Amino acid sequence: MVLANHQGTTPPSPISPPSSPPSGATAAAIGSSSGSWTAADGAALYGLDRWGDPYFAANARGHVCVQPQGERGGSLDLVELVKELRGRNLSLPLLIRFDDILEDRLERLHGAFERAIAQYGYAGRYQGVFPVKCNQQRHVVEQLVESGRRWHFGLEAGSKAELLIALSLVDDSQALLICNGYKDQRYIETAILARRLGRQPVVVIEQADEVGRIIAASQALGAAPLIGIRAKLSTRSTGRWGSSVGEKAKFGLSVPDLLATVEALRAADLLGELRLLHFHIGSQINDIAVLKDALQEAGQIYAELTRLGAPMGYLDVGGGLGIDYDGSRTATAASKNYSLQNYANDVVATVRECCEGAGIAVPTLVSESGRAIASHFSVLVFDVLGAGGRPGSVPEAAGEEALILRNLRDTHAAIGAIPATDAAAIGAGLERLQEAWNDALKFKDDAMAAFRLGYLGLPERGLAEQLTWACCQGIAERLALLPADAPVPDELRALPAALASTYYANLSVFRSAPDTWAIDQLFPMLPLQRLDEAPSRLGSFADLTCDSDGKLARFINPDGRSGRGQVKSLLELHPLRAGEPYWIGLFLAGAYQEVMGNLHNLFGSTDAVHIRLAPGGGYRVDHVVRGDTNAEVLQAMEHDPQLLLERLRMASETAIAQGQLAIGDARRLMDHLETSLRQTTYLQG
Ligand SMILES: *Cc1c(COP(=O)(O)O)cnc(C)c1O
Repeated sequence: MVLANHQGTTPPSPISPPSSPPSGATAAAIGSSSGSWTAADGAALYGLDRWGDPYFAANARGHVCVQPQGERGGSLDLVELVKELRGRNLSLPLLIRFDDILEDRLERLHGAFERAIAQYGYAGRYQGVFPVKCNQQRHVVEQLVESGRRWHFGLEAGSKAELLIALSLVDDSQALLICNGYKDQRYIETAILARRLGRQPVVVIEQADEVGRIIAASQALGAAPLIGIRAKLSTRSTGRWGSSVGEKAKFGLSVPDLLATVEALRAADLLGELRLLHFHIGSQINDIAVLKDALQEAGQIYAELTRLGAPMGYLDVGGGLGIDYDGSRTATAASKNYSLQNYANDVVATVRECCEGAGIAVPTLVSESGRAIASHFSVLVFDVLGAGGRPGSVPEAAGEEALILRNLRDTHAAIGAIPATDAAAIGAGLERLQEAWNDALKFKDDAMAAFRLGYLGLPERGLAEQLTWACCQGIAERLALLPADAPVPDELRALPAALASTYYANLSVFRSAPDTWAIDQLFPMLPLQRLDEAPSRLGSFADLTCDSDGKLARFINPDGRSGRGQVKSLLELHPLRAGEPYWIGLFLAGAYQEVMGNLHNLFGSTDAVHIRLAPGGGYRVDHVVRGDTNAEVLQAMEHDPQLLLERLRMASETAIAQGQLAIGDARRLMDHLETSLRQTTYLQG
């Protein structure tokens, strides 16, 4: 064994230095002590250069920066921005919404369709709507309506409340208001009457029995709505939402129902209002091939409806335009194998082909892209309160130590003597690391046995554990410097994960990123600072809730070494530094998370802020939306905060009277309670 000399005679001979860098060596993620790590390495490690493009990047200071207008506009240092927002008394966790990104997404979507229409000589136009369910926040919907005005961009509603938002915010008579979801008589009558306000609501028949209600409402009011039909396609999407289509889908009409509906409309003299065919094959379409099939199927149905005498004019291809969460560009759950332009091209080309074949005019193309518009613009920033699960540094020996401890110290020193930058002579080096690890385990077992038998005290046992962890750390650091294909024994390969830390996040996963918990959604996460410093830890996040599911432990894996599109359970992170914040950004979560988030443990909404680039450089703060206070979340559960306070006030009086509580302490207690009621539900930094 390598440590036959653990009484300290000759140190083990160091591995010879490399003559040239090992081929295929990738920048080390863990434990690099070399100073060559740059911000570009950090950006590559976290995939910033892939999923972040063109909005998020790393700057020379090792900070994440934001280009809210992509390549066309200025850049903001996210760390500086957070500092300044905190200076304005906003607290973490903080949702930062970049309205310029929202606008840029709209521009890209329309640009892609405009290019496709020109390229394929499509004799029609594109006119999109935003599905309100994706993010109903007032400032978000208002911003979209405002930014989308030049394209007559409309909204899609799936409930009466969403319909109210859509009717009230969109005053452009050319914009579409697509009315989906279950509809009762009042919903339908509202849509019919809103036509008189100059709005364009299209009531989409999603269930076979809705046609009866539409006919009844039209007869009652002597006016008709614009009508659409949602088809249940046989084309199934792959991925998580695949089951939301096909024969058993919750929404849409089967072909027999569709034909019966056409005849019912004809009989009621309403066929002349049937203008739109709609389908939606599920969110986050991963594979473009599926979309093509669906488009062909829908194109045929569209042509058939025209032949049956409906005026038609609109084909609504629904949502589903995907986001590349992990930057892998693959047909996997967190990614997609097509670009925005590919998508637009396929929609335009396929529909044109169908209509040409059928000899009918091409429709105005509508999409209800939610995720693709709203994901990028909001960034959730949270702070790390501390890190656990890892041994601290190894204390110096205080005087003569037990032999077992000395053996462990020698093993640790021997590992440290293997040059950290040395990745040559890999086989021999690995053998020595393996031997050292075997020794460390043996000595640790000896220490445990000695403790059980009473030969070793509790402090010594603690020291033995610490030293063993330190050996583990030393080995992990050296392993990280080896090339990816080095024949590392499984036992050693498992060491870095064994050293993983839990980083405690000032956050509720259930409130701010519920899909990570509910449907294993992946969002890119990374530190906002220190990207120019090799992260030497592996970790995952635990949130503030008292729930073991309250964690973030699934991360994108941009590293091609382990296969793109895969998931990893630990993220490369930095050791915390005393007195220095460590801010983490969770990205691409602007769609669905806010409204799906819940009040688990009574953690409420976070502070949110809308940022726009200022014309002369820098930025301006457009809106500040305060997070829920403790008083508000209590009220949401029907508690009366004042009553709760009053009870405690009376309990304090009793305690004062009984001499158990000083008046000053009673005041302090009431002060804390009253202040907390006014503050957000998160830990105050
Ligand atoms: C949810 C939904 C959308 C939005 O889907 P994305 O995948 O977010 O684009 C569009 N249309 C309908 C009918 C929906 O239910």
